[in-house]
Amino acid sequence: MPFWAYDPEEEEWIDILAYREPKEELAGRKLVCPHCGVEMVIRHGPIVIQHFAHRMRCPYADWRKPTTPEHHAAVTTLIETLSRDPFWGVATIEPGRPLPAARRIPDVLATFPDGLRVAHECQISPITPYRLDRRTAAYIRARIPVFWWFRAGYLDARPPDLKWTVLAWQRVILELGIVKPPPPDPAGHAYHTMPTEVRLLVRFPDRPEVYRLDGSQGLPSWVHRRAWQWVLWMPVYDMWRGIREWYGAEAVYRHLGPVWRERFTPEDVEGMLVGMWEIGVMAAGPEGRWMPQYLPDFDFRHWSRWLRGQRGEEGLQESPSILSVRYHCEWWTERLEGATTPEELRGVGEQIRLTEHNPEVRERLRPVYRRRMRELKRRGDGPRMGGI
Ligand SMILES: [Zn+2]
Repeated sequence: MPFWAYDPEEEEWIDILAYREPKEELAGRKLVCPHCGVEMVIRHGPIVIQHFAHRMRCPYADWRKPTTPEHHAAVTTLIETLSRDPFWGVATIEPGRPLPAARRIPDVLATFPDGLRVAHECQISPITPYRLDRRTAAYIRARIPVFWWFRAGYLDARPPDLKWTVLAWQRVILELGIVKPPPPDPAGHAYHTMPTEVRLLVRFPDRPEVYRLDGSQGLPSWVHRRAWQWVLWMPVYDMWRGIREWYGAEAVYRHLGPVWRERFTPEDVEGMLVGMWEIGVMAAGPEGRWMPQYLPDFDFRHWSRWLRGQRGEEGLQESPSILSVRYHCEWWTERLEGATTPEELRGVGEQIRLTEHNPEVRERLRPVYRRRMRELKRRGDGPRMGGI
């Protein structure tokens, strides 16, 4: 059920649930689907909650989940709250439009003055970790970080892999505390009821406190900086656009635009880089510096399994740079050992010289390369082993 329409003449979003008698109050206005631009009609009856309808199916219907009054209440609360919030207030906060690059229509889209767009999705219906991962990755490919909001308690009630997937990306738990009126007369029609209130809750995996984004008191600044760190993804990643160099968090911070320098600190940038490294987007290099991961055919799933294995049960705290060196050495060693002729080995060696940016890794691979070359040459000189 669509609850939004757009009035192109007044350039105004129309929320049909904000009207008591929409058919009369909106009479004479041009109302189109905000996604495809086709004119919409108002449906409103004794049983059916008021909503807009297409005469034909919206071509973008698959780009978003169908909405309900509950979901709509969450979205409108989020838009109102973010628009007032000091962190988000400088951005234009609107219901989402189709994003062809991600093939999605986000529930809310924030556009910051420097052009960065950030999506918010109110995920009230169930979702699998796989889908959440795929959708988040599609947004990232479209250069849009996305925050997922869940119905309060849903993540804790699910097997933990869903929560891990959420945290791997956004590193904060965002929940919608939906307060509903008492159930209507059980004999009546059980259509969706409007919530009386939607609370926007923020918490972190390592702390017990729950913060209310829509509360009357402002949140401490560290909560903002930690909760919304994920918006730094694009500005941070852009540091390496077109170049492959090692940079520290301080240098990246200095390179950020004023919108981000005002909101974050170099330590937040460092935290963001560690988060990006944990999911395999960044490689950690010498002296606390970073670069986007550059291994050819890098496999994100293999990396996260490997990292979990290294950390073990106790969450062993070796530095990212030590772990990155180890991973890269293992990765290349496997290819050096896999070479079956001197020519093949030379090919791998050449690839290491061209693509491995960490001098320490190259240094450690040299003896492996030499030993493997001796082995292959010996094998080539010796008597040929016959086939079967
Ligand atoms: Zn449409």
